[in-house]
Amino acid sequence: MSEVQQSKSTSVSEGETLVEINDLKTYYGDGGLIDSTPVKAVDGVSLEIKRGETLGLVGESGCGKSTLGRTLIQLEEATSGEVLFDGTDITELSGQELKNWRRNSQMVFQDPESSLNDRMTVGEIIREPLDVHDWKTPRERREHVRELLDVVGLQPEHYYRYPHQFSGGQRQRIGIARALALEPEFIVLDEPVSALDVSVQAQILNLLEDLQEEFGLTYLFIAHDLSVVRHICDRVAVMYLGHIMELGPSDELFEEPKNPYTISLLSAIPDPDPTSSRERITLRGTPPSPRDPPKGCPFSTRCPMKIRPEEFRDADDDLWLNIEIFREVVRARTRADRSVTDQVKELLGMETRFSDIGEIQQELFADIDIPRDIEQHIDEATGYIENNDDQQAREYLRDVFGSVCDSDSPGDNVVSNSGRFSHCHRHLDEYDEPDEFTPYANR
Ligand code: ADP
Ligand code: MG
Repeated sequence: MSEVQQSKSTSVSEGETLVEINDLKTYYGDGGLIDSTPVKAVDGVSLEIKRGETLGLVGESGCGKSTLGRTLIQLEEATSGEVLFDGTDITELSGQELKNWRRNSQMVFQDPESSLNDRMTVGEIIREPLDVHDWKTPRERREHVRELLDVVGLQPEHYYRYPHQFSGGQRQRIGIARALALEPEFIVLDEPVSALDVSVQAQILNLLEDLQEEFGLTYLFIAHDLSVVRHICDRVAVMYLGHIMELGPSDELFEEPKNPYTISLLSAIPDPDPTSSRERITLRGTPPSPRDPPKGCPFSTRCPMKIRPEEFRDADDDLWLNIEIFREVVRARTRADRSVTDQVKELLGMETRFSDIGEIQQELFADIDIPRDIEQHIDEATGYIENNDDQQAREYLRDVFGSVCDSDSPGDNVVSNSGRFSHCHRHLDEYDEPDEFTPYANR
């Protein structure tokens, strides 16, 4: 036992840190005239990327992956927090210092159709960053571009062709050659194979692995497809609504996910083992708006393993699920743009779906055995809504039915010897209830 622990911890400390991110936040559009609530695309991320590793970044579309990647290479300005490269906070750089630093970090984009300028030849596209940085002599630049074509598996005569003459896979090779031109240490790969046919995906992934070995590159590999990430990444970070929910070595995280969100995501991948008893978890609804994230845990509105308040531990599971759904309906109402709804009402002279809370209550609770105290709370909330006070209803329901998941942001709890962490209250002793740690989302 102690031997295992030792060897694991040595192997982790062996890796030297290249990038250290501390409480990084990137918000869009705060202080705008139309809507002053910012989109909290990245909302307090802390992690490290080791030199020479591939760190995977996965999560549903819109969770903030591209924004995080773009902030790391300063294509997006951080709202707060630090991004340290070899100890230098690059969010503080500007002018010539920033320009010099930019050579070290590049990005490969998802869509090879739109990310290459169709009016430039392939040679010009790959050479452009060299020109911008006044790299060596023009003659050496041309030579370097020819080498790069060879390195990514393209032909010398491709130099004078135009991107539209190439297939998706070849275009992605052009994008990769361009990213390599200034000999960077770090590359953000933003869904580099998502737009490609499956047969071409493997070729590009192999190329990326070969290049990493040859040039000692460090990758942040962004994907929404978990199965791609498993084999190419050393460690994986799982992102949800601007937060990292779990981060650890790929194999461990795939074999024994600890965070309820990771568990849910993985359960959606078909299990090749026919004897497996793994349960498929279908998450209800969609993630909340990043303009209005939940107060406590970011995953609390959809978590299939959410902690219940003590006094309702014995409530019927189906009833409890409907209470959670009712709360989500109320949340959605507070999020909706009331003025738009009212306009529609005025224009059409009809009631919209936002006015029939009584019907929704019927739908959810009429056929269920509901204890008197719970029913009273639901009635009270419905009353607030009938008085047009959705916000008060939302807060009332949170006070009555909410748990630590609704009120407090979970910390990053270390969940294995490898230093893997998970952002969930369930890992604390006081909430660890193995018997209840079963998903109830499928009912
Ligand atoms: P992902 O790459 O995981 O799909 P993104 O980082 O692209 O997620 O987006 C995260 C959130 O930020 C989304 O809600 C998206 O709509 C929003 N967003 C992204 N770019 C901008 C922008 N330039 N202005 C305003 N909101 C943006
Ligand atoms: Mg993206």
